[in-house]
Amino acid sequence: MKLQNVKEVVQVSSGFWKCCKYCSALKMSEDSVEEQVNHYLSHGLKLLHIGTESSRTVEGQVWQSTVAVLGKE
Ligand SMILES: [Zn+2]
Repeated sequence: MKLQNVKEVVQVSSGFWKCCKYCSALKMSEDSVEEQVNHYLSHGLKLLHIGTESSRTVEGQVWQSTVAVLGKE
């Protein structure tokens, strides 16, 4: 898949949850990033990026989360 062909991207993260963009089959709040990625792969999306993201809580503690970006042609 070429990046310039990507029409839509979806980001999943262990740090926040969103419902599946395409169906209501999954309770993503209860699923790991891996399961969310696998679910989007089953919708025909391709994995573009996976990595970690750091943010800070209001108390100033560093919060690490795993993020994945998937794309749909
Ligand atoms: Zn779905």
